[in-house]
Amino acid sequence: MIYLDYQATTPLAPEARAAIMPWLDEDGFANPHSPHRMGRAAKAAVEVAREQVARLLPGGGKVVFTGSATEALNLAIKGCGARVCAFSAIDHAAVIDTAKASTSAFELPVNREGLVDAAADFPADTGLVAVMQVNNEIGTIQPVGPIADRARDAGALFLCDAVQGAGKLAPPQGADMIALSAHKLYGPKGIGALWIRDGIALEPLIHGGGQEQGLRSGTLSPALCAGFGAAAALAAARMEPDAAHVEDLWRAARDVMARWMLNGSEIARWHGNLNLRLDGLDVNRLMSECRTVMFSAGSACASGSGRPSHVLRAIGLSDAQAKSSIRLGFGRYTTRDELIEACRMIDAAARAQGA
Ligand code: PLP
Repeated sequence: MIYLDYQATTPLAPEARAAIMPWLDEDGFANPHSPHRMGRAAKAAVEVAREQVARLLPGGGKVVFTGSATEALNLAIKGCGARVCAFSAIDHAAVIDTAKASTSAFELPVNREGLVDAAADFPADTGLVAVMQVNNEIGTIQPVGPIADRARDAGALFLCDAVQGAGKLAPPQGADMIALSAHKLYGPKGIGALWIRDGIALEPLIHGGGQEQGLRSGTLSPALCAGFGAAAALAAARMEPDAAHVEDLWRAARDVMARWMLNGSEIARWHGNLNLRLDGLDVNRLMSECRTVMFSAGSACASGSGRPSHVLRAIGLSDAQAKSSIRLGFGRYTTRDELIEACRMIDAAARAQGA
């Protein structure tokens, strides 16, 4: 099997796994909110992890652990009380659907390169602007700094979904809230975080025992926190070598796939995301013929809901073009040889179709 679906989820780093295990065994299982010795040890592990995650983020704020980035984004959007929320047309459903469900939603346009127009107007009464750092479908890196500045000048908060950028790029500048997910940075599934700038008050979504400073009740999992923390620390330490490895992989894959069209900007892009299309390609057939390669159809949204990709439509692709797109995602644990082998297999299967 060759795993090329790093935007859906990443493999668990061995270091993260090692950090998780002690908190699942007979000495480590205590409730981190219990005042006794075992509870205090678990709480200390949670706080170490919080600090490790915070190092991926700007100073001057706090990290609140959540069950996922989806929950973090819901907490930010619903909790800030904005009545009007502007978001980009290519943001994740966790932003778009939440904004549509709880605010008067306004969509910011993107260009054919998959970049949000930083100069686009939004309504004067906008209370929250949300733009992602790196797009999960096409990998484009958004101009979040200038957009954050414009939001601040207009008196709105700025929320950045940094799920695909965290641990790979410097944190988004000027954000008031930032959402992260452990499983996209080689940590475990089932835990995310919301970074909240000091001075910003949110209403909680989940009421109960008052954990996480009253913002997210519910017993934390020290195991998941420790895994997230270890993954974040590793990502911070390996940011440069990881990026250099991804560049090398990108060049190798682009060479093999030279005849394929790239969806989204080549330059303003995280190069661990290769979203490609070929006229006339039958992606379902390709996927069944290349069953040993784990990759995604570009036209289906990442959740696998079967909804057509709003991202490929937003960058101006026709339905036929979107349906003939695939996404190859790679990263720290992908080897050059396996990537080349997978690309050759995919390209040969496409040629055999006549595409
Ligand atoms: N935002 C982006 C850009 C994503 O890629 C994802 C996951 O696909 C999410 C949010 C949701 O993250 P989680 O799986 O932690 O809910």
